[in-house]
Amino acid sequence: MRSIQSKLVIIYLAVVLIVMILSGVFIVDGLSNYEYGKVEEDLIITANQLSDVIDTDESSNEMKETIGKIVSITESKKKHIYILDKKGEIYAYLGESRDNINSSVVIAAMNGRSQVARNVSSATIEYAVPFEEYYIYIKTSTSDVNEKIMEAKRIIIFAIAIALIITVIIGFVFASTLTGPIKSLTIKAREMAQGNLRSKIEVMSKDEIGELTESFNNMAEELNKTLYFVSTEKNKLETVIEHMEDGITAFNKRGDLIKYNKAFIKVLGLKKVYPNFNRLFKFLNIDIKFEEFLEKERTISQLELIGNKFVTINFVTYTDEYGDVDGVIVVFRDITKQAKLEEMRKGFIADVSHEMRTPLSVIKGATETLQVGAINDPEFAARFLENIINEADRMENLVGDLLDLSKLDNKQISMSMTKINMKDIIKKEIDQKMVVAKKKKQKLIYNEIEKDNLDIRGDKSRVLQVISNILSNSIKYSGEGARIEVSVDDNEDYVRVIIKDNGEGISKEDQTRIFERFYRVDKARSRTMKGTGLGLAIVKEIMDRHEGKIALESKLGEGSTFYLSFPKYK
Ligand code: ADP
Repeated sequence: MRSIQSKLVIIYLAVVLIVMILSGVFIVDGLSNYEYGKVEEDLIITANQLSDVIDTDESSNEMKETIGKIVSITESKKKHIYILDKKGEIYAYLGESRDNINSSVVIAAMNGRSQVARNVSSATIEYAVPFEEYYIYIKTSTSDVNEKIMEAKRIIIFAIAIALIITVIIGFVFASTLTGPIKSLTIKAREMAQGNLRSKIEVMSKDEIGELTESFNNMAEELNKTLYFVSTEKNKLETVIEHMEDGITAFNKRGDLIKYNKAFIKVLGLKKVYPNFNRLFKFLNIDIKFEEFLEKERTISQLELIGNKFVTINFVTYTDEYGDVDGVIVVFRDITKQAKLEEMRKGFIADVSHEMRTPLSVIKGATETLQVGAINDPEFAARFLENIINEADRMENLVGDLLDLSKLDNKQISMSMTKINMKDIIKKEIDQKMVVAKKKKQKLIYNEIEKDNLDIRGDKSRVLQVISNILSNSIKYSGEGARIEVSVDDNEDYVRVIIKDNGEGISKEDQTRIFERFYRVDKARSRTMKGTGLGLAIVKEIMDRHEGKIALESKLGEGSTFYLSFPKYK
C-alpha cells in the first residue's frame, strides 16, 4: 500500500514533469524555429544580394569572384553558393565542389518557385531561387544552430532535473504537513483500539485536518467518558452479582458457561465447575437440555433437591439485537433455610397444640369425673381439684413462656441495659434456690472470688431469669444429694458465670438440640418436673439480646456445666 505522502509527491512530481517537458518542448521548438528561420532568412538575403550584384553576362570565374565578395561581406563562410545554368548544371560556385546539384529546391526553382528546405539528417538548409536564365542555389550547414538547440535542450533537461529534485523535497515537506497529523490520528486510533483513550493529539492547524483532529480528540474524550461510565456500571453489576447469595450462571448460544459467581459453587456444593450446560445438569441429575431453550424466549422455575439442599432453579433466556435467543441465565437459590424454618414453624405449632391439649384434657377429664359424682367424695374431690390446679399452673407457665418467647422474637421486649454487679445477682439467686435444693438434699455451693469489677451490661430481671433457669435445671435434672457449684470468672471483655452439676448429664446428640423450642431429652419425665421445654430457648434468646454467649459441657451420667458469658460493663 502506497502512503498518501508518496502519492502526493508522485502526483506533484508528475505535474511538474509534464509542465516542464511541455514548456521545454515549446521553448526548444520556438528556439529552433527562430534559429532556422534566421538561417533561412540569411540565405534569402544572400540570394537577393547575389541577384542584385551578379551580372548574368559574367563568366563563371567572374561570378565566383562576385560571390566571394558578397560572402566576405556577409561573413557567411559556411555557405556553399552555386549558380546553376538552365539545365541545372553548375556554372559558378563558392564552397564545396560538386558535380551536380540534385535537390528538390532546385527542381522547384526550375519550375519558377523559390523554395527553402531543411534537411535534418545532413544538418543543412538549402534554398534555390530562379535568377533570370540562371538559378541561385545556396546550401548552408546548421550544425551551429543544432549545437545551440542541443545546448538549450541540455539546459532545459538540467533545469528539469533540478526542478524535479526541488519538487521532491518540497513535495515531501508539503505532503508531510498534510500527512503528519493524519499519521498522528492513525497512531492515536491504533492506541484507542488497544484501549488507551487518555492521550490527546496536538491540534497543529486550523484547517480541515485541524478540525478533524479536534473532532477526533472530542470523540476520544466522549468515548472515554462513556467507557468509564460503562465500566463502572459493569463493575457495580459484577460486584452485586459476585456478592449475591444466589448462584448465578450465564451460558452462551452453544451452551458454554460464560459467567458464574462464587455463590453458584457454594449453593450447589460443586468441587469443579462444569463448563457446559448439559454436562452441569447431567451431573446434578436434572433432566433438562440446553436445546430446549433455543427455539423461543422462555422462563422456567423449578424446585430441586440437590444433595441435602432445597434449591429453586430459574432459567431465563436472553436475546440478541434481532430477538433471537442468545443464551440462558440460570439462577440457583438455596431455600433450605426457609424450608427448614417452615418445617420448624409447622413443628412448633404442632408442639404448642400438643402441649396445650394435654393439660386441657386432664382438666376436662377431672372436671367430668367430678361432675358425675366424684365431687361428693371429699378425698377424690381434693385430688382431682389439685390435678386441675396443677394442670392450670402448667398451662399458665406454658402460655407465659410462649408469650415471653414471642415477645423476644418480635423484639417487643426492650432490654433496659444497666450496670449490674454479677456477684450480687448470683448471691440473690442462690439464696432463692437454696430451699428447693435443700428439699432434694443437694449441696448448692457458691465459690465466691475475691475480685471486684465483675459488672456487666444487662437487663437485671432478664439476667436473673437466665441464671434462675439454668440453676433450676441443674437442681431439676440432678438427683438427691447432688452437688451444684456456681462460680464466676472474667476476661477482658466478658464476665462468665459457671453453673456445674453432677446430675444426669446430657448426651452429645441432645446437647446440640436442647436450645430448640420444646426440645426435651425425656418428654415424660420433664413433664412431671413441670418443664415446658422452652426454658433454654428463652435463655438463648436473652443471651443473644445481651450479645452474650452460652456454652455447655456435659457427659451423660456425670453431670453438666453451663457457661454464661456476659459483656463487661465498660
Ligand atoms: P424444660 O422446661 O424441659 O426444663 P429446658 O429448655 O429448660 O426445658 O431444657 C431442655 C432439656 O434439656 C430438658 O428437658 C432437659 O432434658 C435438658 N437439661 C437442661 N438442663 C439440664 C441439666 N442441668 N442436666 C441435664 N439435663 C438438662
